[in-house]
Amino acid sequence: MIKTFEDKKEEQVETHSDVTSFDSLGLSEPLLKAIAYHGYKKPSAIQAKAIPLIMNGEDVMAAAQTGTGKTASFALPILESLLNKRQSSQRQARVLILTPTRELAAQILASLETYGKYVSSRTAVVFGGVNINPQKNKLKNGVEILVATPGRLLDLYRQKAIRFDELDTFVLDEADRMLDMGFIHDIRKVISLLPKNRQTLLFSATFSNDIRKLAKSIIKNPTEVSVTPRNTAAATISQAVYNVKKSQKSALLSHLISQHSWEQVLVFTKTKHGANRLTDYLKVAGLKSMAIHGNKSQSARTKALADFKKNKIRILIATDIASRGLDIDQLPHVVNYDLPYVAEDYVHRIGRTGRAGAIGEAISLVSADEAKLLKAIQRLIKQEIEIKTCKNFKFEKDDTKQNPNQNFFRKPSKKKRSNYYKR
Ligand code: AMP
Repeated sequence: MIKTFEDKKEEQVETHSDVTSFDSLGLSEPLLKAIAYHGYKKPSAIQAKAIPLIMNGEDVMAAAQTGTGKTASFALPILESLLNKRQSSQRQARVLILTPTRELAAQILASLETYGKYVSSRTAVVFGGVNINPQKNKLKNGVEILVATPGRLLDLYRQKAIRFDELDTFVLDEADRMLDMGFIHDIRKVISLLPKNRQTLLFSATFSNDIRKLAKSIIKNPTEVSVTPRNTAAATISQAVYNVKKSQKSALLSHLISQHSWEQVLVFTKTKHGANRLTDYLKVAGLKSMAIHGNKSQSARTKALADFKKNKIRILIATDIASRGLDIDQLPHVVNYDLPYVAEDYVHRIGRTGRAGAIGEAISLVSADEAKLLKAIQRLIKQEIEIKTCKNFKFEKDDTKQNPNQNFFRKPSKKKRSNYYKR
């Protein structure tokens, strides 16, 4: 059975707050009604901290990972602020939410629609990889809230499909990931187009020096809120490692899924080809899976995610880029088929499980050549991950050596990293 938010109160210090109801945050009836309809009982810590500040018009810098309820912490006060405002003019938006990936953008739009069920604001989402014309049409009469990825937003601006003269609020979501993906120039360009007099909200899983530098140039005297200590995984995620030869990883994964009757497993591979190969292997083993990565069309990705959420497919195989923003309620199992090159990605990946207080399990299949990556991860999360073994699986000896020329401790250059994320 999956335990929930409420059951794990005592362990969830970080995500729990003393604020016991949404009513006390000053939100209006239409929003409270939507929250109740959605079944949320009390605000999460980030919501309790950020909502009153944002409603007060302050600029906010929030350190919060996905899974803490951060989307609602800006979506609710934004929707509240729009309740008594007149509609935007043609090709204008009152609120701009900038986010790194299409999946995250679509997810934020879905959240806005959920929380804004009884609010009549117009929302739109724009991202690359799909035809620009329907997006232009959508913006023609103006929208109150625009969710966008940077490149497509700039294209629309250049084509005069969007202007920001009426903009009141700017949200930069997952700022750390934006920088990792090499969006810094696009972000600065977008900001240069916005009115100086606006409310700015910056959300990031971590506040690195780069983020602070960026923040300095876009926010004036922000109030800082934080709910997750730097680079720690939620307390409700149990983590384990299986040491296994690379060539046996697929067999072990298929064994673990069948043996433990896992339903809804999110698996991470390092490359698109790895994801495809694994999908083929699992298909032969009779396990229904699908891959999402940069080579798949947007509609194929959306369909795979929808089928996964509806339990039509049991296993979703993703590369890091495709995984951003995946919001799957109470996902019980995340598997690192390959360890990520960048240790911080481990925290992002396993953040897909144990969301909003649910119990989750994160498993990593680690071959000998990944030993250094594992060390770097353990150092980052300041925790040794338990090594597990599996009785009825025949492990072969793994005598692969780590490539001595490969220095995994050094982060790849920005350019390399942005290429890596395109995989
Ligand atoms: P986020 O961190 O915004 O990606 O949200 C993570 C998950 O938590 C989403 O599935 C939300 O629907 C859920 N969530 C957000 N706020 C609450 C709340 N107050 N109570 C329970 N679940 C929540």
